[in-house]
Amino acid sequence: MRIVAISNQKGGVGKTTTALNLAACLTQKGVRVLLVDLDPQANATSGLGLAQEDGGSLYSALVEGTDPRQAIRSTRLPNLSIIRSHQELAGCEIELAQAGNHMARLRDVLAPLRDSGHFDYAILDTPPSLGVLMTGALAAADELLVPIQCEYFGLEGLSKIVNVVQQIRECGANPNLLLEGIVMTMYDSRANLANQVVNDVRNYFAETCYQTLIPRTVRLGEAPSFGKSIIEYEPSGRGAQAYRALAEEFLARRSGAPIQAPGPLPTE
Ligand code: ADP
Ligand code: MG
Repeated sequence: MRIVAISNQKGGVGKTTTALNLAACLTQKGVRVLLVDLDPQANATSGLGLAQEDGGSLYSALVEGTDPRQAIRSTRLPNLSIIRSHQELAGCEIELAQAGNHMARLRDVLAPLRDSGHFDYAILDTPPSLGVLMTGALAAADELLVPIQCEYFGLEGLSKIVNVVQQIRECGANPNLLLEGIVMTMYDSRANLANQVVNDVRNYFAETCYQTLIPRTVRLGEAPSFGKSIIEYEPSGRGAQAYRALAEEFLARRSGAPIQAPGPLPTE
């Protein structure tokens, strides 16, 4: 099981949308995915139409050392399991910080799942702040996927997260953390600035940058309020197509298949 954190300390950049829909699209390729909702706001949980966990079982695994396998739930989608969020998770920030070993805690909690052979990927949706849960996710992850919004402040956020990765590696919490990919979200081809940002990120980050651009679409914004992934809500729309392409690219990058050079930017 590879652990992939979807992180960016900036909020509203498409972390949850990407975690949930990438996970859903991967399962359609026969990949077994465990989605872990680490955000106390529980957007990934509710975005799949699920209530927050009652007993706070991820919280108890983290803080009380209960078996994390008890926290795994199935979803409507075959091959997709979830560890739901619970608002108690917000308390982890203080409790884990006091316990002193917070960097390693999440990795330890995920270890039995990694060894269980039940999942190919764990996808961690992280909160938008550089607290214990996000740094714990970066310490636990094999790979980091950073969604950024195609706008000026997106670039600023990107340089911050690159620094965070450097710090996580250098402090010894996770020397092998790989910045696997940057995914550009909420792309609007009519906006000149969006095209400028895409070009800049591609020039600077080269292969780290996914070729697939996630468009800004009304449906992607609506789907969570219906408790559905985009492949359930509008399976043939632009949003679903984009996340399916992202899932394919995600798998192709791991199979050693050559990555195509970026084509021209799409227009409406
Ligand atoms: P984060 O998890 O980084 O805070 P979200 O994934 O929750 O970001 O996205 C922020 C908001 O933007 C949400 O309301 C979401 O539904 C919406 N959104 C995300 N991606 C898109 C998109 N590609 N097109 C339109 N709306 C989007
Ligand atoms: Mg989120």
